[in-house]
Amino acid sequence: MGNFLRERYSSFKLAEDAKKNGYYAFFRTFQSKQETEVKVNGKDVLMFGSNSYLGLTTHPKVIEAAESAVRKYGSSCSGSRFLNGTTDMHEQLEHNLAKFLNKEEALVFSTGFQVNLGVLPTIAKQGDVLLLDRLNHASLYEGAKLSDASTVVFRHNDMQALEKKLANLQDANHRIIAVDGIFSMEGNIAKLPEIVALAKKYNASVMSDCAHAVGVLGDHGRGTPDHFGVNDDVELIGGTFSKSLASLGGFVAGDKETIQYIRHVARSLIFSASMTPSSTAATIAALEIMSTDDSRRLKLWENTNYSLKRLKELGFDTGDAETPIIPIYIRDNEKAYKMTMRLFEEGVFVNPVVAPAVAPTDTLIRFSLMATHTIEQIDIAIDKILKVANELDVKRQTEAA
Ligand code: PMP
Repeated sequence: MGNFLRERYSSFKLAEDAKKNGYYAFFRTFQSKQETEVKVNGKDVLMFGSNSYLGLTTHPKVIEAAESAVRKYGSSCSGSRFLNGTTDMHEQLEHNLAKFLNKEEALVFSTGFQVNLGVLPTIAKQGDVLLLDRLNHASLYEGAKLSDASTVVFRHNDMQALEKKLANLQDANHRIIAVDGIFSMEGNIAKLPEIVALAKKYNASVMSDCAHAVGVLGDHGRGTPDHFGVNDDVELIGGTFSKSLASLGGFVAGDKETIQYIRHVARSLIFSASMTPSSTAATIAALEIMSTDDSRRLKLWENTNYSLKRLKELGFDTGDAETPIIPIYIRDNEKAYKMTMRLFEEGVFVNPVVAPAVAPTDTLIRFSLMATHTIEQIDIAIDKILKVANELDVKRQTEAA
């Protein structure tokens, strides 16, 4: 048994090769708070790889809320929401979220991943069909695997492909379309108005996972459905607290009956410990800041538009990016790794997205913005990206032209 497991790891060449060649870019160790300037592996670097879009993880009110919750409730709830793990803070957060998202009810889970693991098998049963965008987050795919419904995948953001699939699925009991609100690698937005129109035409339901969209899109950061004015037609909104909301946990929001049903059936909720007091309190505080103060979101968009403009002017291939997640397509696994590590040496942290997570021709480095970045920090990072790209002969459009 032990030998078999060791052999399995040694056949996992990717990590070993990268380590051998000195460009293993994963599990880097942070010795500081997650802000725009961080200490990683003992080195001070500029952070362009965080999901803390609004920079709220270090906000004094968020820290104070987490601290006082630990003092009042202790460090853990020591059980599942279903039994002994529900505090008045969990209920308060659900109430505030439902109100914020203009939905009847919300339900909080311990991570966003667990939301999808619990919700999809609960809402999609045998005879139903889940329609997933090809580039949806892994958790939607894992949730679909746990469901007895069948899964149909449609080409990324391709509405003709979705319509074709829907037209062929008229015999299914129910059709449920589930898409990310903002796609986590490509940084583009789900076409919810078209999806909602198709859902009406073919009698389907829509769920949007707004993990990256909350805090970024919509009025006060209400997410992609609000951004497009289709909130009432997206039956379920899912999301996480680990990005703009500066904490850990996740949620689903929708009509009262559906949420009550999920509350009593979803196994990842019922059989897993609840969000800790500190993470629950931090989320309540971050949501309060987000829903009353737009200045961070506006600065995030200023940073996003500035970065996109500069990267495009320099000829970098940013695909369809239109949000604070900006992919810089390298389209070569080894170069993407090398670029990540050279940038780290130069003092800039970015994340590589490489095969097998994406096709080797789609490898990229992900440049993620925060509201707390200054234009000077962005300029330093982009200058370094240009320097390293030239060094590694990364293709840019200006060169091809
Ligand atoms: N859904 C999407 C679309 C995500 O991008 C992520 C995280 N990257 C998750 C769910 C999982 O959220 P969490 O980190 O809270 O588990």
